[in-house]
Amino acid sequence: MRKRSITEVDVRGRTVFVRVDFNVPLNDDGRISDETRIRAALPTLEHLAFSGARVVVASHLGRPGGRIQLDLTLDPVARRLSQMLERPVTYNGLTLGEEVDAEKARMKDGDVFLLENLRFHPGEKANDPEFAAALAGGIDIFCNDAFGTCHRRHASIVSIAPRCASAVAGLLVKTEIDQLSPILESDFPQGVLLLGGAKVADKIPLIRNLLGKTGTMLIGGRIAYTFMASRGEPVGASEIEEEMIPHCRDILDKAKKKGIRVFLPVDHVAAVTPEPNITIRMVNRGETIPENMMGLDIGPRTVALFAQELRRADLVVWNGPMGMFEHEVFSAGTIELARALAGSAATVVAGGGDTVAAIRRSGAAEQLTHLSTGGGAALAFLSGETLPGLQVLEDINP
Ligand code: AMP
Repeated sequence: MRKRSITEVDVRGRTVFVRVDFNVPLNDDGRISDETRIRAALPTLEHLAFSGARVVVASHLGRPGGRIQLDLTLDPVARRLSQMLERPVTYNGLTLGEEVDAEKARMKDGDVFLLENLRFHPGEKANDPEFAAALAGGIDIFCNDAFGTCHRRHASIVSIAPRCASAVAGLLVKTEIDQLSPILESDFPQGVLLLGGAKVADKIPLIRNLLGKTGTMLIGGRIAYTFMASRGEPVGASEIEEEMIPHCRDILDKAKKKGIRVFLPVDHVAAVTPEPNITIRMVNRGETIPENMMGLDIGPRTVALFAQELRRADLVVWNGPMGMFEHEVFSAGTIELARALAGSAATVVAGGGDTVAAIRRSGAAEQLTHLSTGGGAALAFLSGETLPGLQVLEDINP
């Protein structure tokens, strides 16, 4: 899949609307706690400013529900962006209106102007054409560099595109497509599909689309217990999804026929209820989970087994944590597997259930060669879904 990118158009003197994903986590005191998403947009913004474009930057932040929410303004982002770009960033706390139009008209080549949180307006999520037309006012080129939001049919992602004279992909979007497309186009016998998390149904599209592409499938998390139950293995009081058992059985059968190596947990961290301070019990290899207990994390043997597979992989697609990792006592499986990835030269595509957060927490992120930051959008892409944000760019530039 090829998209016309920002480096293929002449931008000098043009006003470019860049949709970025500055949906950064904020501390209680309003400070940015992780600026990865801002950093990810810098190549496009630097290219544009350096090439003499007039750069209008727009993003959403959090879920203000179509209303102004003072703790979700982009003010802290504007200040940080200015430091990171090493140039002034104009920010007036507005997204639309006369003052914004006047500011756009005042801009000189190389200027950067950050609009206020798009989601302060209900039109953003509603993909409202009038809102999109207002955003497109005074704009020559639409540039989508918000890969993580491309699966959303929102005004600044979809409806705005045909309302600008040209529409192109930013460098982050291009990098993600270049990284993810080959996964759908070829097979990876050395690749690993690592699945965890809560709901089997959520994982089915990804599994079905990638089944047979990776030579190995590792399954942990809550979903592992429904897979185990589908094999007739005892799972104690672990929460299983009865209605998904036939699907799990079908997936395991297909995997076997295709010669895919499938690994389920061989040991567990179990407890009577999933509470943080509860007494936990290790259920060792060969033991069964007691009738009154549920599996809440993978055990050390499983970690070692899965880690060995991950270290050999040239591609890792990871969706969902290995346990109820929000509680410290059930977080080791997820964190240890993230650590096992450190130093890996594999392409790592992670998303869902805060998998990316676990990778960052483990310190592995900086040591990965190719870490997709696309999250839900990357997984939707790999599940074979059409992403509205990419589709519109394709429709405009067939
Ligand atoms: P997902 O968004 O489907 O990837 O699911 C993430 C959620 O799965 C997290 O909130 C975890 O707490 C939960 N989870 C993972 N493993 C388990 C488990 N063994 N038992 C209960 N919840 C789990």
